[in-house]
Amino acid sequence: MIQYKINELFETIQGEGSFTGQPSIFIRLQGCPVACSWCDTKHTWDIVLSDEITQDVMLTKSQETSQWAAMTAEQILALVKEKGFQAKHIVITGGEPCIVDLIPLCEAFELLNYSTQVETSGTFDIKVSGKCWVTVSPKINMRGGYPILDSAMLRANEIKYPIATEQHVDDLKTLLKKHDMDNTVIYLQPISQKKRATELAIATCIANNWRLSVQVHKYLGIE
Ligand code: SF4
Repeated sequence: MIQYKINELFETIQGEGSFTGQPSIFIRLQGCPVACSWCDTKHTWDIVLSDEITQDVMLTKSQETSQWAAMTAEQILALVKEKGFQAKHIVITGGEPCIVDLIPLCEAFELLNYSTQVETSGTFDIKVSGKCWVTVSPKINMRGGYPILDSAMLRANEIKYPIATEQHVDDLKTLLKKHDMDNTVIYLQPISQKKRATELAIATCIANNWRLSVQVHKYLGIE
């Protein structure tokens, strides 16, 4: 049985992409080798065995740490119920969640009529249920050296692409040209809410009929 390494489990409002505004339960998994320079969850990168903590300690974290609790899908489901979370949408994020098989986790929740979503960099095989909504946020030419997989682009229900420069836009267009993405929604997301990045994202969205994703939770000051 898979033991998922849970860095955080919390209920909030999804602030990005197609599910913006949706009450959601976030399951943040520990571990990511992709190494984006502007990553805002660098504490999730390393899996250090001595960082293992109990689920109770994980739930009461008051700051971002690299500590994680090992839990099966059933234990995560039981904890969600015990906490009395009301949201019916599960967001599996990281770190890079697709370094592990997420099918049992998706299916455990879907059996109880939760919807599921995964947020991934597109650099690992996406092992999720058929119903799971897949958000691929392609991380092109990052320090970890992982290419974007064709299979990830094909599975994507939406592309959510962080941008700050014209080069980022060009990289995305080059990637999209390689795939038939006609039925996939494309979001641009300004990196770190910077003014220049936001202006570039707005202009590029209008020019290409793409959508803007602005990380609503950051403007609201919520997790
Ligand atoms: S893939 Fe995500 S978690 Fe990993 S380094 Fe990039 S932004 Fe951070």
